[in-house]
Amino acid sequence: MKKVHVFNAGPCILPQVAIDKAVEALKDFSGTGIPVICVSHRTKEWEAVMDECRALWRELLHIPDTHEVVFLGGGASLQFLYVAMNFLEKKAAYLDTGVWAHKALKEAAGLGDAYAIACSKDRNYTYIPKGFDIPADLDYLHITTNNTIYGTEIHEDMDCPVPLIADMSSDIMSRPVDVSKYDLIYGGAQKNVGPAGVVFAIVRKDALGRVSRYIPTMLDYRTHLDKGSMFNTPPVFPIFVMKETLKWLKAQGGVEAIWEVNKKKAALLYAEIDRNPLFVGTAEKEDRSIMNVCFVMAPGYEDLQDEFLSFAKERGMVGIKGHRSVGGFRASIYNACPVEDVEALVACMQEFEKSKR
Ligand SMILES: *Cc1c(COP(=O)(O)O)cnc(C)c1O
Repeated sequence: MKKVHVFNAGPCILPQVAIDKAVEALKDFSGTGIPVICVSHRTKEWEAVMDECRALWRELLHIPDTHEVVFLGGGASLQFLYVAMNFLEKKAAYLDTGVWAHKALKEAAGLGDAYAIACSKDRNYTYIPKGFDIPADLDYLHITTNNTIYGTEIHEDMDCPVPLIADMSSDIMSRPVDVSKYDLIYGGAQKNVGPAGVVFAIVRKDALGRVSRYIPTMLDYRTHLDKGSMFNTPPVFPIFVMKETLKWLKAQGGVEAIWEVNKKKAALLYAEIDRNPLFVGTAEKEDRSIMNVCFVMAPGYEDLQDEFLSFAKERGMVGIKGHRSVGGFRASIYNACPVEDVEALVACMQEFEKSKR
């Protein structure tokens, strides 16, 4: 097979061992002789997968007893509606840090009173707004901790005077999180914890049931909490691969250990962006994401963009074209992206620079 370095933003690269286990399970799930995608989800073998997956979530993120994790379908995009359905009664605020945050706000605004408390659109979402006042009468404040498209990130769990809800699609399990500070943490699995097709939601149990509206059965977190994410057929294959991905993460030393690796990988790449005269980073330095690294050609070198893309492609770099709303390049260096891949990209940028001297 061709040697490639995959920097896709999502779905993204997963640990090889998780993929190998998935291939094995497609042939014979847990010694049953049945492919995992054909097994009944009402068997004890499948129940064991659900239990192990939940236990890994609890252990890796130190989820307190006040919270429960559920696995759902519909992508993070459907969670935008779940959030408003389950938590919006009078008024909610959204920190508008990019396209995803904006889409989350749109869903809530369709159901009730929701507004942007601060917004970084004035500089194309290259920074995280700070120092805004949070009114005490909000049902919740919604934040997007990592802005996948723009490469900005909220690095700390904020102290919030109202219930805090976070879309952590693209930085979940990349750093330690104080789950107790949030009423809800949700995201699509396909950025850091598994394949597309499953969503995680970590819910503070006693925060539910406070809204007066009718919540459709499937959109009510309580339905899924009560049934251990098995109210209806769960996405069995994505959950299986997620479980294997989390097992790999545990073997790496868990979230605390991978955080050190992630910081190292990000530092390596940002150092090259800052050093190499041909490139410049787009995000404000203090808000730079350790998951999605965005950069463009430096002023005066803009016309080299396509040339660098094909130069990098020839050297096996996959998925480094920036999102259309930012342009340039984006390297997504999630948990499963090895340090060697980042080193290869750095070497490629250096080689390109030399070729231009
Ligand atoms: C990718 C992404 C989404 C959308 O996820 P889907 O599962 O495709 O709906 C939402 N929020 C963030 C931060 C993302 O990175």
